[in-house]
Amino acid sequence: MILLKNVSIKGENIKDVLIQDQVIKQISEPNSINIEKAEVIDLTGKVLLPGLVDLHTHLREPGREDSETVESGSKAAAAGGFTAVHAMANTLPVADTAGVVEQVWNLGQQIGLVDVIPVGAVTIGLNGEQLAELSAMAHSKANVKIFSDDGKCVHDPVLMRRALEYVKAFGGVIAQHAQEPRLTQNAQMNESLLSGQLGLVGWPSVAEESIVARDVLLAEHVDSKLHICHASTAGTVEIIKWAKDKGIKVTAEVTPHHLLLTEDSCRSYDARFKVNPPLRNKNDLLALQEALASGVIDIVATDHAPHPAEDKEGEWNQSAFGMTGLETALSVVVTVMMKDKKMNWADIARVMSENPAKIAQLEQHGRPIKEGEIANLCVIDPNVEWKVNANQTHSLSRNNPFDGMTLKSKVIHTIHKGKFTFKSGEIVS
Ligand SMILES: [Zn+2]
Repeated sequence: MILLKNVSIKGENIKDVLIQDQVIKQISEPNSINIEKAEVIDLTGKVLLPGLVDLHTHLREPGREDSETVESGSKAAAAGGFTAVHAMANTLPVADTAGVVEQVWNLGQQIGLVDVIPVGAVTIGLNGEQLAELSAMAHSKANVKIFSDDGKCVHDPVLMRRALEYVKAFGGVIAQHAQEPRLTQNAQMNESLLSGQLGLVGWPSVAEESIVARDVLLAEHVDSKLHICHASTAGTVEIIKWAKDKGIKVTAEVTPHHLLLTEDSCRSYDARFKVNPPLRNKNDLLALQEALASGVIDIVATDHAPHPAEDKEGEWNQSAFGMTGLETALSVVVTVMMKDKKMNWADIARVMSENPAKIAQLEQHGRPIKEGEIANLCVIDPNVEWKVNANQTHSLSRNNPFDGMTLKSKVIHTIHKGKFTFKSGEIVS
C-alpha cells in the first residue's frame, strides 16, 4: 500500500491518495486516511498526473541493441513519467509479423516498468510495396492497434488507401510519417534561406503538407482513422484543422523538439539537431504551440530516436536523423506551454496521457484520477528548475538536443500498476 499525502491532483484539489493492489483505493481530504501498513510519501507542493503515454518511441530492439533496448528504453520512459510507450516498427527485423510484435510485447511485460505496446508496420519490411500482416498483428497477443512505416512514408496512394480500408475491420489506425520522398531526396534540414547559407540540402514544408493533404482526403474517402506523426509545419496545422472541421477522422502529434527548437540550432552543424522531419522556423513553432493548446493537434509524442555516438558525431550529411526525448518530454512541454499560461496541468494530462491513450485505445492508461481506477500515475515537482545533462540518462544513447538547457519542472516519481517504477530519481526494478 502506498499513501500519497497532500498531492495536488492535476494542479487542482489537494488530496491524500491511497493505492492498494494496483488500484486507486481511496481519495480523501488531507490527513483523513490513517493506515499503519502504508508507505507514506508527503507530496506537498507536488502535482499528480495520470501516467504519461507515448505514441511514438523507437526502442531499437530487435536489431540495434547498441542504441537502445526494450529494457533501457523502459527505464528512460519510467524516468520520464511514462507508464505506456508505443514501440515503432522500424527494427531489424521489422515489426511486420505477429511473431516480431509478440516478441517486443513479451519483452516489455517481462521488464515490467512500462507497458510496451508494439506498433505494426504497414508494409512488409517498410518497403512500401506490399501490405504487412495487419490482421495477424491486430489479433496477436500484442493486440496492435496502430500501424506505421515510421521512418518512411507510405507514399503510394493506392497502398495507403488499402491500409486505411483494411484496418477498419479491427478499429486500427494508420500513423503516417508524412514525407514525400521525391521532394526530399538527400534532404538534410528545413528548406529555407538558412539551408542555402549552410549548404545543406533542404527538406521543404510542402513535402510534409502534400502527403498530409492527400491522406486526410483518403481517410475521408474510405472513412477510416488516420494519425499524423510529428506534425512540423504551420501548413500541416491548417490542413488538419480543415480536415477536423469537416469531420474527417484525423488525429495528430507534435514532438517536444518541434515545440522548443528551430532550424537556427542547425547553424552549429551539431548533428544533435538533425532530425526528421527537420526543425522548422519560428512561424511553424508558434503555429504548433497554438495548435496544441487549441486541440487542433491532439497530443505530444516524443519520437524518442536513440543513436550511438558514432552515428551522431561525424559530419552533418553522414549523421543519423533523430533525438532522444523520453526523459525530457514532460519538462520541455511544461517549459514551453505553461509559460504565458497557454496550458495548465489538466491540459498537460490531456495531451500527454488522456488523448494518446484514447487514440491507442488503451483501457488502463490516461484514465481519470478516481477511486477504482488502475494506479498508473506520475508525480511532478513543478517548482524545480534543472539543467539537462545528456550523459545522465537511462537511455543507452546520448543524443539529447536539450543538453545544457534549463527546464522547468521534473518528474520525481512514476507509479505503474500500483507500484513505483521510478522513485525520487531512481529506477525501481
Ligand atoms: Zn517519423
